[in-house]
Amino acid sequence: MDRRQGRRGEFELIAELFAPLARGAPGALDLKDDAATITIPQGHELVVTADTLVEGVHFLKSDPPGSIARKSLRVNLSDLAAKGASAQSYMLALSLAPWIDDDWLKRFAEGLAADQAQFGVTLIGGDTTSTPAVLTITIAAFGTVPLGKMLKRGGARPGDRIFVSGTIGDAGGFLSVLDGEGARIDAELRDTLAARYRTPTPRTSLGPKLIGLASAAVDVSDGLLADVGHIADVSRARILIEAAKIPLSGALRVLWGTDLEAIIRAASAGDDYEIAFAAPESSRNAIANVSRECDILVHEIGRVEEGEGVSLLDLGGCPVALGRLGFTHF
Ligand code: ADP
Ligand code: MG
Repeated sequence: MDRRQGRRGEFELIAELFAPLARGAPGALDLKDDAATITIPQGHELVVTADTLVEGVHFLKSDPPGSIARKSLRVNLSDLAAKGASAQSYMLALSLAPWIDDDWLKRFAEGLAADQAQFGVTLIGGDTTSTPAVLTITIAAFGTVPLGKMLKRGGARPGDRIFVSGTIGDAGGFLSVLDGEGARIDAELRDTLAARYRTPTPRTSLGPKLIGLASAAVDVSDGLLADVGHIADVSRARILIEAAKIPLSGALRVLWGTDLEAIIRAASAGDDYEIAFAAPESSRNAIANVSRECDILVHEIGRVEEGEGVSLLDLGGCPVALGRLGFTHF
């Protein structure tokens, strides 16, 4: 990295801000080596995932640096959770834009430290470079599952039920507020939605408990219907989702209402970072128990049949013609 005004050099940056985040991982070698090692518990395998966040696309330059850091990490932890993996460590590749200064970097590292403590993960390495363009953050995260047990998108079978964690559409609700919708909603409600967009909560305690219960699972990040569609595709099955059963938060219901159009918006909005999964009906009670243990809502929202694709059923049980309602994911 070049030395720029207001910004320390690459090696100081790594030593002062990032090496302290690597203390819990002996294999990270204090970020003083070319690479790191990862130790996996016996009988387990490594689950790996990566996501890139780009300024102006996935976050705004004006967002708090700590929340940009946390979102970058959390979207990866959400992918691991959806695969039933227990997160362990991550790597961080930064392409720093000219406007980034030392104070921004310090607050970015503080955000990572807070989430490391919350989610029990450790930084083990990365790369730091400058770019004349926009800030880009790539995180690769590593987790473990018992050998052969990773939850996959394939595996849903006709007769299975479809479940989803948490509530759907809040992040999309916040984006609509930024676009000028809901000018009269109160500040508390707005903050609730903003937090769901800026610092989503990866369902890290739920995911690993779904191993042995779920037949297929997916991270809900591109919109519930689109992501459930991935389960349908890879599982070569048809999935029916009942609109009336899609869980919307109280805040979103105040903002968008509860009619079919609001539900379709929520189910196509994206940025939810919930887990959608299929499971046989016989798992229903065990799923309810896991939901209670983790204190994470889980709702049954549909079922799997022979066939292909995803259908949304309206409040009367008839398939909705999604195209006409402005649904653009397919
Ligand atoms: P190399 O020249 O081999 O690419 P670097 O000088 O880029 O090595 O990195 C030195 C060490 O610092 C490595 O252990 C690397 O993993 C770590 N590192 C560099 N940038 C970051 C970062 N943004 N976050 C965490 N670790 C980093
Ligand atoms: Mg490097």
